[in-house]
Amino acid sequence: MNTPLVLTDFLDRAVRLYGEKPAIIDEEGTRYTYHEINKRVNQLSHGLASLGVEKGDRVAYLAPNTLEMYEGFYGIFQVGGIMVSLNTRLKPDDYLYILNHSGSKILFVDHELISLIEPIIDQLKTVEQIIIHGASEAKGDFIAYPKWLVSQPDTAFPRADLDENDTATLLYTSGTTGKPKGVMLTHRNNYLHAMSSMHHIRVSDKDTLMHILPMFHVNGWGSPFYYTANGSTQVMQRYMDSASILNKVKKYGVTVMHMAPTVLNGIIDKFMETKPVIEQDVRIVLAGAAPPQAFIKQVEEEIGWEFYQVYGMTESSPLTLASYMSSEDGDLTGDDYYYMKAKAGYEMIGTKVRVVNDMHQDVANDGKEVGEVIVKGNGVMKGYWKNEEETNRTIVDGWLHTGDMGTIDERGRINIVDRKKDIIISGGENISSIEVEGVFYEHPAVQEVAIIATPHEKWGETPHAIVVLRKGHIVTEQELIDFSREKLAHFKCPKAITFLDELPKTASGKILKVQLRELV
Ligand code: ATP
Ligand code: MG
Repeated sequence: MNTPLVLTDFLDRAVRLYGEKPAIIDEEGTRYTYHEINKRVNQLSHGLASLGVEKGDRVAYLAPNTLEMYEGFYGIFQVGGIMVSLNTRLKPDDYLYILNHSGSKILFVDHELISLIEPIIDQLKTVEQIIIHGASEAKGDFIAYPKWLVSQPDTAFPRADLDENDTATLLYTSGTTGKPKGVMLTHRNNYLHAMSSMHHIRVSDKDTLMHILPMFHVNGWGSPFYYTANGSTQVMQRYMDSASILNKVKKYGVTVMHMAPTVLNGIIDKFMETKPVIEQDVRIVLAGAAPPQAFIKQVEEEIGWEFYQVYGMTESSPLTLASYMSSEDGDLTGDDYYYMKAKAGYEMIGTKVRVVNDMHQDVANDGKEVGEVIVKGNGVMKGYWKNEEETNRTIVDGWLHTGDMGTIDERGRINIVDRKKDIIISGGENISSIEVEGVFYEHPAVQEVAIIATPHEKWGETPHAIVVLRKGHIVTEQELIDFSREKLAHFKCPKAITFLDELPKTASGKILKVQLRELV
């Protein structure tokens, strides 16, 4: 009989092989070995069981990247529960919706975020207990986590009997484009995604990962699995603050980081400003969400860190494409090399990716014809929680429809052109907002940019740029438009620019174009 692929395996392995190695460095700089973490995880499981949590129960977490959030995953899995991780940037009403929709039984909240929950407590239908991370004393009916945890036995917890197709995690999508949907990922999904990622990123026990991407987010949470399985050290980072991130890179010998391009942008700036001397080799910096080519060039040439672009979505666990180079790519140099790194990606192990037209036929593999990217593979979700209709719309014949448009070339390299919803259609021509943004990022005065469609009498839609300028830089609207006209076909260039002090973003750092469209 097959051994089920269950995520608790990863911590078990780390404890056996790397028990005395530092597993977690928390916010205060305290180090915990894998043995120590395992004890805390056992205490959490005993505590959850004493509160009546059983196999299949949903346990919600509202927390930034902390020790407590990390141990939550394994503590819940041992009991057979489902981790519902909540985005820390939502509004109280969103939490109300997600907590009631998921039927969460227990809610863990970081002490800094408790005010987000207080206004909705009376309306929570299924939450029986709220437990506060970092609170020194119980507050009303809430349990204070630190005391509660250490009062539990740290002996091995009798594991729930899990099947690999049981749901492990329930994450409501980023909500970049609409109301969040609960993505169910099974133990098998997360397990095989972790196996593939650790291979592609070449994770080892010599690595020190800094958790920058939020662990409540799917790309963040894959890391607690694959870095644990390999006995790496994991540094917790609560805020996306460039100075603090760079300090920790230096202090703790960080070798790998995953982040959103907007966060990387801040780190590049801080690095160029302060030029810190970093002794160890930062092997890989990884980002998805359409990183501009200009960033990648800077990271590799000026900072000297290797860059990896990845593509994926919550519904696919998430990673499906990675921009590593194949030796078949030959010796790409200069802009060709950076183009490949920024834009294209190869299928990762365990995934099949196609690009299809409206009739569901494969587009020509000429790197030009645009179609929807569809994905089949180990990472593809079980479905949306209590939303069969949307599940059936998204997964058709086993193929996950990503809603992203792309091209494919003769070597199977897939280039993500844009989200279907973000593509600008002007006079019948498709314009990729990502392509235009990439050009704007080459301008030295541009700190951040988003290109969106605005209605146009003659052309239907026309691109509009929203720009945040770098401190101390002055540039006119016309100068920026002219700059883009030098590098792009004229129909792709914005006709107008709005300057803002900052752009609205999701908690993982993605620009919220929905809000910008309302604004403009
Ligand atoms: P929602 O589905 O709730 O609107 P979201 O799609 O932003 O939110 P995620 O699942 O976190 O939520 O993000 C996945 C999306 O991010 C992809 O569908 C794609 O549009 C974009 N993306 C991720 N990686 C890349 C990349 N390398 N290049 C271009 N786009 C990317
Ligand atoms: Mg999405």
